[in-house]
Amino acid sequence: MAKIKVKKARELGSCFGVRRAIEIIDKAAKEYRHISTLGPIVHNRLVVTKLSETGVKVVNELDQAKDRVIAIASHGAPPQLLSQIQARKLQVIDTTCPIVRSAQKAAKKLADAGFRVIIFGEATHPEVKGLLGWAGSSAVATMNGAEVAKLELTPRLGIISQTTQSQASFVGFCNDVIKAVFPAVLEIRIVNTLCQETQKRQQAAVELAAESDLMIVVGGHNSANTQRLAEVCTPLVETHLIETAAEIKEDWLTGKQHIGITAGASTSDQAIEEVVLKLQSLSGGN
Ligand code: SF4
Repeated sequence: MAKIKVKKARELGSCFGVRRAIEIIDKAAKEYRHISTLGPIVHNRLVVTKLSETGVKVVNELDQAKDRVIAIASHGAPPQLLSQIQARKLQVIDTTCPIVRSAQKAAKKLADAGFRVIIFGEATHPEVKGLLGWAGSSAVATMNGAEVAKLELTPRLGIISQTTQSQASFVGFCNDVIKAVFPAVLEIRIVNTLCQETQKRQQAAVELAAESDLMIVVGGHNSANTQRLAEVCTPLVETHLIETAAEIKEDWLTGKQHIGITAGASTSDQAIEEVVLKLQSLSGGN
């Protein structure tokens, strides 16, 4: 096989929100023997497996938690859930990312000011479920701006985004909403709740994809920001999303000379380095 150049994006891998969440939970695990986290602390299977060895286990519902110490994941939680935890007098370890917390505050502020809140995001994602809880009972989450016209419209609409969506998609969504609801709606307020860490990674991934003939995106298959990286690269070049180096297929490298690597915000440096080493060993390149 011809020599292949492997290059990493200038911004990739773990963000401050994920590092902060892992630090908080690592510290708590030393203090408490058993902790239940409501959903994975971060969307990375390898990190979650490592944490489970220190007594931190994942539950899907509060009712499944047998421990007295409950951790809120970096994606945050709705206020109703926080009230239930408080009512049960459980100890809370909150790892909610400060950027997600800002989006929750923006959702609440809009709802309190009488806006019907529209969230641009995947309704089943934990962060969006949390945002919906803060955004008032009339809030909806959707990826389709045109569909907003089918809702019972109120005079004031507020729009926010799941933090990890791409800027281009959010702008496109807002345009679609405006086209769909004008002139029935008198006022639309858009709050930019996008995470800049995510935007920087997406921008760097697009730049690298433009000069590569294969892109490898490293991260959890269930990680929204990792999926977004794959989505922005796919129109430009052949792109594969993998969680570990073991998923690399040798035939992907056939005829390739420049391989770009990017990684989601919850991907460890170790996972990225393992991918680089595997690609280099398969290609004999540098
Ligand atoms: S990607 Fe952004 S919002 Fe998500 S955890 Fe990292 S810093 Fe926070």
